[in-house]
Amino acid sequence: MSRILARLDELYAIGQHRAGYSPEEDAAHELASRWLREAGLEVTSDEAGNLFGRRGEARVWSGSHLDSVPTAGRFDGALGVVAAIEAAERLPEAPLAVVAFRAEETGPMGSKRLSELPDAFLEVHIEQGPVLAQLDEPLGVVSAIAGQARGFKVFEGRADHAGTTPMDARADALLEAARFILHVRECARAGTVATVGAIEVEPNATNVVPAKATVSVDARSADPTLLDALIDEIGFELNWRTDPVPMADAFAAVLPDAPRLVSGAGHDAMVLAAVGVRSSMLFVRSLNGGISHHPDELSSDADVALAVDALTDALVRLVS
Ligand SMILES: [Zn+2]
Repeated sequence: MSRILARLDELYAIGQHRAGYSPEEDAAHELASRWLREAGLEVTSDEAGNLFGRRGEARVWSGSHLDSVPTAGRFDGALGVVAAIEAAERLPEAPLAVVAFRAEETGPMGSKRLSELPDAFLEVHIEQGPVLAQLDEPLGVVSAIAGQARGFKVFEGRADHAGTTPMDARADALLEAARFILHVRECARAGTVATVGAIEVEPNATNVVPAKATVSVDARSADPTLLDALIDEIGFELNWRTDPVPMADAFAAVLPDAPRLVSGAGHDAMVLAAVGVRSSMLFVRSLNGGISHHPDELSSDADVALAVDALTDALVRLVS
């Protein structure tokens, strides 16, 4: 096993769930601090608790997060930090910083509270999906992070007795909601995804015709025009909407033939890009069908090694 995978095991041994600002996340930051020092970097942290390992005038940062979800595997976030330490060690003269942002999974909180910004940021991350495996490619360059819209739709009906009310005399709110859920699925075509993930039913009783149903909507696309069209076509109360965020081309420059992917999930790189930092992201192939936020989350030693090579090459170009 490579040192990277051994380190991911060490972090996982602290706890599968390393919640933001928990003792487990603190312990992960302490462990990473030791590795940063061993790599010859100067360890600091900022007011938000983000961890830095710096060398010289560090205008280029690389890293990710060490917090994790309750059902986490070994790779999400941790891979980006450990890979950045590895690359920093290979470039003993390069001015750079390795960073572990706090509480990505519940915010992102750390990357949103930075007291300084770099010129460029590089994040290596497990894909958390099946696309690279399907393409038989070890690495993918992230071209953009999808914009998201969240909201809900409410259906009003009338509570009635489930035994005595004839079918043609009912106003069943959940039935209307069910039609809407199928409609949401129909609206999501190429370049977009849409999900109903939560339903609240009132009175939520087995023998009462549903009087009210509230369903959630999550809609995403890397194309702002497609996202707006999707929101219009679905038709729902919008709670918030974020624009898609294009990524910079530091990884595209060193991997010209790698496939380009859109990230459907938000990441620290998105937060930095949104405030003007040239942020680039590299996805590493997910094995086991792309499963993530699950103990079976996996990338191979060989693919991870290629990612560290690409990260090192990209850093060389940016710092020299
Ligand atoms: Zn992550």
